[in-house]
Amino acid sequence: MPHTPLDRRTFMEIVGAAVGMAAWSGAARAETAVTRPPNIVLIFVDDMGYGDLGCYGHPLIRTPHLDRMARDGVRLTSFYAAAPVCSPSRAALLTGRYPVRCGMPGNTGPGSKKHLPESEITIANLLKDRGYRTMAIGKWHLGHQRPEVLPTGRGFDAWYGLPYSNDMRKPFVQTDEPLKLYRDTEPIEYPVNQNTLTERYTEEAVNFIEASGDGPFFLYLAHSMPHLPVSTSEQFQGKSDGGLYGDVIETIDWSVGRIRQALEERGQAKNTLLIFTSDNGPWLDLPDRMLNEGVERWHGGSPGPLRGAKGSTWEGGMRVPMIACWPEHIPAGTQNAQVASTMDVLPTLAGICGAEIPRDRTLDGCDILPLLQGEATSPHEFFYYFLDKRLQAVRHGVWKLRREDEDGAAELFHLGRDPGERYNVAEAHPEIVQQLTVRMAAFVEEVKGP
Ligand code: MG
Repeated sequence: MPHTPLDRRTFMEIVGAAVGMAAWSGAARAETAVTRPPNIVLIFVDDMGYGDLGCYGHPLIRTPHLDRMARDGVRLTSFYAAAPVCSPSRAALLTGRYPVRCGMPGNTGPGSKKHLPESEITIANLLKDRGYRTMAIGKWHLGHQRPEVLPTGRGFDAWYGLPYSNDMRKPFVQTDEPLKLYRDTEPIEYPVNQNTLTERYTEEAVNFIEASGDGPFFLYLAHSMPHLPVSTSEQFQGKSDGGLYGDVIETIDWSVGRIRQALEERGQAKNTLLIFTSDNGPWLDLPDRMLNEGVERWHGGSPGPLRGAKGSTWEGGMRVPMIACWPEHIPAGTQNAQVASTMDVLPTLAGICGAEIPRDRTLDGCDILPLLQGEATSPHEFFYYFLDKRLQAVRHGVWKLRREDEDGAAELFHLGRDPGERYNVAEAHPEIVQQLTVRMAAFVEEVKGP
């Protein structure tokens, strides 16, 4: 059964009720305050591990701004990217659908003609239709060969960033295509100075926020860092006890602080839902091609207590940090272990912003605002772990069944007692193995389509 979003009052219904109350009480100022739908700032970092932030237990990297954001909002501990690599994870975030469903199960690169199918509807499409100003900043990675498949063809009014990963150039990747920085549909810089990318993305974000008028805005800030090769500007180099990788994370943390400051200065801090998460786990076990231009094996992040990393369906490949902050709507200083994923972002934002979710297709995500508010448990009975088109695992409550190869033995983990997936308890629970094996087979059939 495909999941359907929870029935819930949409933001516009709430606004309608509030406007009615305001008129009844004559409180015109209250009316002005609630009639503007909230701004959305969605920060999506690249290859940051579950254990890379102070508030997720990193012992050396300092992230005061993200830690403060967690204190001001909710921090999720069982939040998943929908894929363990970049393109499918981004496709799922922006469409609310598993990558196999939205036509983007694998990565795309410089010479590839692959792109997010034009029939897909993005968060930006939905919010633009609701009158939002929309901007994408940073990495796209959902196709780049034609202007129509770039962010400005997919619901964003403007874009400043890279078309794909920052390593997709010589000498890391065999391609004659130079990596270019774009503004909208035009390349404006190559070779790209990657040292200053995080700061320049931040400056663009601040400019976008400062240009906001009376209408709401949606900012999608997809940092290129900390994807390898990691780099940062001189002012951040050598500052972190966590080495160069720590410098890069601390630059991103600075960026979050700068954006929150801009929202406050513009008087929009209270009226903005700010979300911070990552597209997949840290890139460990580098291929030799990456060991160029000073890249070292230890430049990757940390999965914390989890097993595995980017490119795998172990928890470390897909479970990512997620912090959401929206004053007076999401209780401050809360932590939540309910299962949710990046696919929930689209239905949640649609609910908050009064956008119609597409009814002519299956959405895998659900509206999780009640979960973020601590008022509901997870709407998901199952979460599925795909590597490209192959379904390798399923989570059901605390249980995770993993079958890496179709003919391989099943492994069962109790993620409550054993989040590091160290103890296979399949033999002790044959009935759970059987039930979840059947469920996996059924979902493979479902996404195959007619
Ligand atoms: Mg990534």
